[in-house]
Formats: sequence, C-alpha cells, structure tokens
Amino acid sequence: MNDLSAVAPTAASAYASPPGACPVMVVNHPLVQHKVTLARSEETTTDNFRRLVREISQLLTYEATRDLPTETVNIRTPIAPMQSPMLVGKKLCLVSILRAGNGFLDGMLELMPAARVGHIGLYRDPETLEPIEYYFKMPEDIHERLVIVVDPMLATGNSAVAALNRLKEAGVSTLKYVCLIASRQGLRALQTAHPDVAIVTAAIDDVLNEHGYIVPGLGDAGDRLYGTK
Ligand code: URA
Repeated sequence: MNDLSAVAPTAASAYASPPGACPVMVVNHPLVQHKVTLARSEETTTDNFRRLVREISQLLTYEATRDLPTETVNIRTPIAPMQSPMLVGKKLCLVSILRAGNGFLDGMLELMPAARVGHIGLYRDPETLEPIEYYFKMPEDIHERLVIVVDPMLATGNSAVAALNRLKEAGVSTLKYVCLIASRQGLRALQTAHPDVAIVTAAIDDVLNEHGYIVPGLGDAGDRLYGTK
C-alpha cells in the first residue's frame, strides 16, 4: 500500500472552527472522496477533471442545500391526491469566483435550474497574494436571494473574504460558500471574517506553499479545468 501519510488531508475532526463560527461541513461520502482523489491525481486528463469537478459540485450541492425550507402543497398524482413538499423561501443565486468557480456552475444549475448566476473576478497579486477585483456582475435583486458562492480552491481565503465582503456591501444577508478543497488557513480566515457563512467542502488540506497553492491540493484548478497549462 502507498504511504500517503506525509500529504494526507486533515481529518475533518482535526479542524476546529473559531468560536461562534458556523461549523464547516466536510462531505466525507465515499463517492465524493473517490472523485476527489481522481481529481487530485496529476494523471487525470482535462476532460476527466472537468467532469469530476462537475460531479463533485453536484454532490456538494446536495449537502449545501440540505437545510432549504420546504412547505407542503396539494397535488394530484395519476392515482390520488396527496400533500407533498416543495422548496419555499428565498430564491437562489450562485456566485462564481472567476475563473475556476465556473467549473461548478453547470452541474449546480442542472440541480437548481431557476437559480440566477453572478460572477466576481478577482486576481491575486503575486507578491502580496491580496485579491484585486476586476469584474463584478450580479442580478439586480441579489440582496433578496440566498447566495451560494463557489470556488473550487479555498487557499489563503483572501479572495473568498473579499468576495463575501463585496456581496454583503451589495446587501446580501444569507450566504453559503462551497469549495472542493479548503486549506486550514483559508477556512480560519473565512470563518473569522464571516462567521455567519456556512462552508461546505470535500476536503481540508494542511498547508499552502510559498505561491499560495494548497498542498497537496490538486494544482491550479482553473488551468486543470481549461487546459491552459
Ligand atoms: N488556486 C488554485 O487553483 N489552486 C490552489 O492550490 C490555490 C489556489
């Protein structure tokens, strides 16, 4: 058996959220973990990586939307009348942090076809790793919606914090954050700045390298999705 202990991700139980912050949901379902392993592997091709990210995004969505409210409505099946639950409450908006966040959109929209979509463009200053905004386009009624922010990699947390700051400035009050791999540092930064935001991830990795990449991570998610490197 391969000894992967040197680069094993943090056990979900080994990460402690800061006091008062929404707990992090680590989706440790075997199907998700299997697909994350395939996505991490450098041998995975661009087309398979894209498909895996799409599939994982759907499985994460299942958990991220677990607490959406429902109400019972009256319908008729071809056999009999019945009472059955339907989603109610705030309408949804998915917000993709460009460009890797777009890898989550198609799969999530398949499950939530009526959701609106916003985009935030942020790039990391290579020296400071601080985020600089270059694009912000949201639906007009964004402040009335439940917003799910998506970006596969939560690394330093700087972009995530900046994105959530911007959305709160735009009047959004109900937010969730969904990623594929989170670093401990990124989680801590995000939870400290935005303790009200529920975070869903498939894995927690221990460290960042000097370029701000998650180790072991999966590399540059944007490059792997779009075959740009
Ligand atoms: N962005 C990525 O795509 N990968 C990382 O490891 C960190 C940030």
